Amino acid sequence: MSEFNTIRVRFAPSPTGPLHIGGVRTALYNYLFARHAGGTMILRIEDTDSKRYVPGAEEYIVEALKWLRIELDEGVSQAGAYGPYRQSERKDIYKKHIDKLLEQGKAYLAFDSPEELEAKRAEDPNFQYDASSRLSMINSLTLSAAEVDERVRGAEDYTVRFKIEPNRSIQVQDMIRGTVVFNSSVLDDKVLFKSADQLPTYHLANVVDDHLMKISHVIRGEEWLPSTPLHVLLYEAFGWDNQMPLFAHLPLLLKPDGKGKLSKRDGDRLNFPVFPIDWQDPKSGELSKGYREAGYFPEAVINFLALLGWNPGDDREMFSMDQLIEAFTIERCNKSGAKFDYEKARWFNHQYMQELDNATLAQMLLPLLEAKGHKATPAFVEAILVHIKERMFFLQDFWDQASYFFVAPEQYDAKTVAKRWKPESAAQLGELYLMLEKIEDYSDAEAMEQEVKAWIEQKSYNMGLIMNAFRLTLVGEGKGPRMFDIVSLLGKEETLQRLRKAIKTLG
Ligand code: GLU
Repeated sequence: MSEFNTIRVRFAPSPTGPLHIGGVRTALYNYLFARHAGGTMILRIEDTDSKRYVPGAEEYIVEALKWLRIELDEGVSQAGAYGPYRQSERKDIYKKHIDKLLEQGKAYLAFDSPEELEAKRAEDPNFQYDASSRLSMINSLTLSAAEVDERVRGAEDYTVRFKIEPNRSIQVQDMIRGTVVFNSSVLDDKVLFKSADQLPTYHLANVVDDHLMKISHVIRGEEWLPSTPLHVLLYEAFGWDNQMPLFAHLPLLLKPDGKGKLSKRDGDRLNFPVFPIDWQDPKSGELSKGYREAGYFPEAVINFLALLGWNPGDDREMFSMDQLIEAFTIERCNKSGAKFDYEKARWFNHQYMQELDNATLAQMLLPLLEAKGHKATPAFVEAILVHIKERMFFLQDFWDQASYFFVAPEQYDAKTVAKRWKPESAAQLGELYLMLEKIEDYSDAEAMEQEVKAWIEQKSYNMGLIMNAFRLTLVGEGKGPRMFDIVSLLGKEETLQRLRKAIKTLG
C-alpha cells in the first residue's frame, strides 16, 4: 500500500523524437489527476539512452505541453525540490544506488560481449539471461573476485544486471486493471547499468527517480505494464516496498479503422496528425505534421484526448480544462483500447470555433489574411463571419469559404458555368445591372433582396436562373451564403464591377 500524504505524479518521456499524441494523453491524464487532487505534476526527462537521444526533442515536449496548457509544477523548465529533472544530470545518484545493489549481492557484473550474447541467442532462440543461465555466463557470479577486479581495472566493458529470483509471484495493484499477477520467471536479469557510457538503463533510473521524487501514482501507457513487476522488485531490493506508488496503465490508442495500435503511418495514410505540433526530423529533415499547425485549438485537442480512454459517466462531451479537472478520476478510465476517431477531433474543433465570438475570431484571422496580402478591418471580417462561421472547422477554412470577399474571381468554374450560364444570362444580367445601379443603399440585404425579386417577378424571368448566374459573377462558382448578404458585404462599386466583367467574359 502506498503511504503518501501528497499526490505527486510525473510525466516521464524519453527525448527520442517528437512526442506522440498518445504521450500527450498520458501527460494530460497525469495533469488532470494531479490538479483534481491538489497534487503536484512533474516533468522528468528520461534521457539515459544516449543512442536514442534526439536533439530538440526535449524542447519539443516542453513547447507542446505549453501550447496545450498542461502546466508543470516541477520539471526541467521549473525549479523544484527534487531536481535535477533530467536523468543525464543524475548520474551520481544512480551510481550510488547501483553500488548498493552490488554490495548486497542483489546485482552482479556481467562481462559477456554483445557478440557472445548474440551467439547464445543464435544457439537457443529462447535464451534468456536469468537464473537458469546466469551461471554459465561470464559474470561476477562465475569469475573469481580477482578476475573480476582485473577485468574492471583493465577497463573491460561490463553491464550490471539485476539478479531476479525465479518463480515468484508478483502482484501489482493497478487502479484501472485491478490486481495483475506476474511470475518473476518471465523476466530476464535486466541490465541496470552500462560501464561503457556510465549510464543507468531506463529501468533503474525510472524506479530510483520515482522513489526519490516521492511519486505517489505512476500513470502511464499500457505498453509499460510488463515492466511493472521489475518496478516492484527494485523497490523491494532497495527496501522501499512500503512506499510503492500506485499504478494506472492507460488503454492503448487504436487505429481509426481496424485493430491495432495507432501509428504515425495511420496518420499519413488517413491524413491526420499524430503529433501535437509540427516536428522536423533533425537528421532526415522530414516534416511530421502537428495539430497546432493543422489549425486546431488547444482546447479542442485537450477535449478530444480527454475522452479517449476516460468517460464522465454521462453523455456530456464538451469539457473545458477546468471542467475536466473537476470531473476526472482514474476510476472512470477505461480498460480497453480507445479508437482514435479522427473525425471527432475535427468535430470538437468545429464546436470550439462556434463558441468563439466573432470579434475574437476576427482578431485570429487578421494575421492569416495579412499573410495572403490582404488588409481588412476587424469589422469587415466579423461581418463575413456571421455568414460563414458555421462552415468553418479550422481558421484556415476562412480563406476557402470567403476568399471572394477579398479578391474578385479571376476565372469562372467551368462546371458551374456549364450548368448556370444560359444563352439569355448575359442579357438578363445586363438588365439586372441597370437596376442595381439605381439602388443607393447596399447596406440592407433584406430590402435589396425584396426589391430585386419584385423586379424579376414583374419581368417574369426565372428567379433561380438569374440568381445562380448572378452568384457565379460575384463568387466565380456556385458556393457561398445568401446572395444579398454577399452583395451587401461587397458593396455597390465592387458588385457592379464584377457583374460587368463577368458579362464581358462569359458573353
Ligand atoms: N521514459 C518512459 C517513456 O518514454 C517512461 C515510462 C514511464 O512512465 O514509466 O514513456
